Amino acid sequence: MQFIEALKLKSKLFFLFLLITIGLMTVGVLGTMHINAMKKNIDSLYFGSLIPVTELNDIIQTYNNGLESTLFKASRLELSPDETLRKIEESLKNIEAKWLSYSQRFKRDEELVYMNYAASEIENTNKYFLKLYTYVKKGKSLSSLNINTLEKKIFFVNGVIEKLINYEVSIAQYERKKFLQNYEQTLKQLGIFLVLIILAVLIISYYVFRSIQKDQTQLELATSRLKKANKKLENVSYTDVLTGLHNRRYFNHIYERELKRAKRANNYITFMMLDIDYFKQYNDTYGHLEGDFALKSVAKVLKDRLKRPSDYVFRLGGEEFGVLLSETDESNSAKLARDICDAIKARELKHEGSKISEYVTISIGVVCCIADDALDDEIMISRADEMLYRAKEEGRDRYVITSNVSRAKAQIIEDDVLIA
Ligand code: GH3
Ligand code: MG
Ligand code: MG
Repeated sequence: MQFIEALKLKSKLFFLFLLITIGLMTVGVLGTMHINAMKKNIDSLYFGSLIPVTELNDIIQTYNNGLESTLFKASRLELSPDETLRKIEESLKNIEAKWLSYSQRFKRDEELVYMNYAASEIENTNKYFLKLYTYVKKGKSLSSLNINTLEKKIFFVNGVIEKLINYEVSIAQYERKKFLQNYEQTLKQLGIFLVLIILAVLIISYYVFRSIQKDQTQLELATSRLKKANKKLENVSYTDVLTGLHNRRYFNHIYERELKRAKRANNYITFMMLDIDYFKQYNDTYGHLEGDFALKSVAKVLKDRLKRPSDYVFRLGGEEFGVLLSETDESNSAKLARDICDAIKARELKHEGSKISEYVTISIGVVCCIADDALDDEIMISRADEMLYRAKEEGRDRYVITSNVSRAKAQIIEDDVLIA
């Protein structure tokens, strides 16, 4: 059954369909053949026994009614010679015709022997009647006819024909018995054949469907593996290799989504842009590898600080990070920005190149506002960038927050800006 497994689903179903069709066609052809054979049997039973029996009975009737009674009446002078001649001629012709018709039908070899014997007896008897016919024809009277001889002749020939009838009947019985046996056997064979076909179809269907099921399971397995692989690939493509944070690509995706969500709900949205202070000097002092380590440490602090499911931390590039928060008002955003600055400093990563602290510090530009339809996607980023610039300018290791997301970039209204 391996070849079934190798077939495609469509071919499998086609194969099954073909098999059932062939099976049913075979049953049909065989059934028809058997029915035809049965019909033949019935025909031979009918023509081989019933009609011959009728013909033989007719011959007996003609001997009795046509010849015996005519001659009996003629002997008693109750019939005219002409009438007598006509009746004898008519009867003999009838007997001859019936016998000819009977003898021309299919006969078995064993039957032929007795049939020939009967034919010669009938001929002999008919010769007797022909003699009487010539006798009457010559104008002689049958009054002296020996009735005893007539009766004997008729009785004898009737006996011969009756024996033939019995033989035909016994043959008919034998044929019928044979026919019934054949019929039962045929029925049995047909039944067995049908059961075998149904079994074969069942077995093959079982294998076909098992194979389909197997295909489906494999397909489901492959789909789930593919889904997992896709998820993994997606994660990889959205993750920064060095820090394990989300990367810029993911930021672009999430930023748009979260902004839309906040706009729909008319909620607070906060975006922070973070940048390590004097990081160039850090690399220059401790080397690039140590620089990477510092980036990882900062990332870890950010991850530990921002654990809500709606908090997102990104490495936007170089030593620059991004934080996206929802449903956090200005004061809480400011508090969080302060906490982040303190936590990074508290890591006490030595930074001899820094002009403001002995440890690694960070500056943050924060934008926090209630999102509405008028809020532009770009403006928040550029405003956060401006705030970061301000924090750097104001002396680093601090955050600058604004809720002003106006496009008027140059006019930063001091009241809106909180430096801490
Ligand atoms: P500021 O305080 O104004 O931010 O000064 P800065 O030196 O931090 O800023 P600047 O943009 O001049 O330098 C950024 C440095 O960050 C330059 C680059 O060598 C370093 N840097 C960027 N990406 C990586 C990185 O993946 N690993 C390491 N080790 N250093 C990086
Ligand atoms: Mg920078
Ligand atoms: Mg920097």
